[in-house]
Amino acid sequence: MSKKVESVKQAAPPPLPEILPHVFQQTVEQADIAISITDDHANILYVNPAFTRVTGYAAADVIGHNESTLSNKSTPPKVYTAMWRKITGGEAWEGRLVNRRQDGTRYLADLTITPVRDTQGLTVHYLGMHRDITGLHELECQVRNQKALIESVVDAAPVLIALLDAQGKVILDNHEYKKLMGDLGMAEPAELMLAGTGGEPDSASSDDSVFHDREVRIEREGWLSPRWFSCSGITVRGDDSAADSFFARQQVSYLLLVAKEITSLRVEQEKSRMAALQAVLAEEDRVNGLRESLSAAIYQIEGPINVIASAVAMLNRRNQNDPMSSALAEAVRAGQAALDNLRQEIPPAPREERASLALNEILRDVLQLSTGALLSAGITVQWQAAPTLPTLIGYPNRLRSMFKALVDNAIESMNTKGWRERELHITTRPLRGGIEVLIDDSGPGIAPELRLRVFEPFFSTKKGGSRHLGTGLSSAQQVVVDHGGMIEVDTKPRAGCRIRVSFPIGNSRESE
Ligand code: FAD
Repeated sequence: MSKKVESVKQAAPPPLPEILPHVFQQTVEQADIAISITDDHANILYVNPAFTRVTGYAAADVIGHNESTLSNKSTPPKVYTAMWRKITGGEAWEGRLVNRRQDGTRYLADLTITPVRDTQGLTVHYLGMHRDITGLHELECQVRNQKALIESVVDAAPVLIALLDAQGKVILDNHEYKKLMGDLGMAEPAELMLAGTGGEPDSASSDDSVFHDREVRIEREGWLSPRWFSCSGITVRGDDSAADSFFARQQVSYLLLVAKEITSLRVEQEKSRMAALQAVLAEEDRVNGLRESLSAAIYQIEGPINVIASAVAMLNRRNQNDPMSSALAEAVRAGQAALDNLRQEIPPAPREERASLALNEILRDVLQLSTGALLSAGITVQWQAAPTLPTLIGYPNRLRSMFKALVDNAIESMNTKGWRERELHITTRPLRGGIEVLIDDSGPGIAPELRLRVFEPFFSTKKGGSRHLGTGLSSAQQVVVDHGGMIEVDTKPRAGCRIRVSFPIGNSRESE
């Protein structure tokens, strides 16, 4: 069996079918490509009718002349040098030359020259075949020009543009895109942007618009603040250039990503939001301050009135008609009426709707609102936010006010004359079934025996003359309890004070 295979392998090639010389001649004569046969110095011996059609030269005009008759003398000499090096080396050459027809018009020739060897292997003739590809060249130029035009328009656009193929690879981008790539120090900002848009198409999107004006925030180490982009994605369809698609036309889809930087707009919006927030919190502070002052006044007046009321009761037990007793009873009545009046003057607590909250954002707001106070006290802030936290259901402004009060306490404790350690650490972390916030300051701290008392209403470590009513931590406790959480003064290894606030998720109490 193997022998048979060997004998097949070694067998001589089958003889070529015998084609009569005139068949070859007719083939060359009728070929629709300009054919010329020369001697080994490029002197023309034969040209076919297609040669005459392309060049305008009849056979009689060029036979005996060199092929250089066709030259327009504008092809660079190095092209001819390379051509001749190749064909005199026995290899075929293929290239483009600028030719001139008999009528003087020029055309671009796509030429192939093949050396023809004799039985000894010596080149005795050259076979030249060429086509006029001026039209194709014009089209190529148009495409190149259009591409250059599109690229310069795309480059001049004041937005980021990137075209991505089906695999997500950027195949075209512009100057603004490249600039962001440099700022980010990473390969493809498109990846970040697409991840930031969520990747899902707009529900009401038409066929071609995948998503529209989605805001994407990009943060980077070393950037002072995040940058914002408004991103839109459009599907662009093109013809598949694979050979299979020549007859069965197939389309390929690209994603055109267009992003406009809106950081300055967002900064302005953020400034207005902060100003509005500051106004709301200031009003809440005013109302709460009034509530606290009136409650403190009531608390302080209630004590003596209760003492007098007890004295009246005692005097009455001894002597019903004691004039002193009726005078004191009158004073108690007047005092209680005054207290009732005061109670009615207590403004209602500001009402607020419950909402889903991102606690990190609430604390970011608080830090932003306290920036001025922190800077003027020379306090450095370490903000360690958990990358992801569960959503809390609660009252956003009450929480902001509460955390701001805790931060204000921390600032005040460190901002005493001569106090050197001035650091504030704010940390958020997820707990099993909840969220924890730690506010650590490097101030003098709270004595262990006072850790529970500080939450009592009207308790203050501040001495007389202070503007403190001692309701800050008790109000903070009320807010935390209304959210189903806990607040405590924590013992911690180093000096200072740590306030630990924790909230269970899905467990906040409805506040009255
Ligand atoms: P040339 O003096 O002819 O030569 C230019 C350069 O080519 C020189 O630097 C020289 O080193 C080299 N060279 C020329 N002849 C030889 C040779 N025999 N051996 C080695 N090196 C050599 N030219 C066109 O412009 N248009 C055509 O359509 C065209 N068709 C051709 C078809 C065939 C089959 C062949 C063999 C050549 C063809 N040529 C064509 C090339 C042409 O013969 C000329 O070489 C070319 O036009 C340059 O002409 P020239 O008078 O400017 O310079």
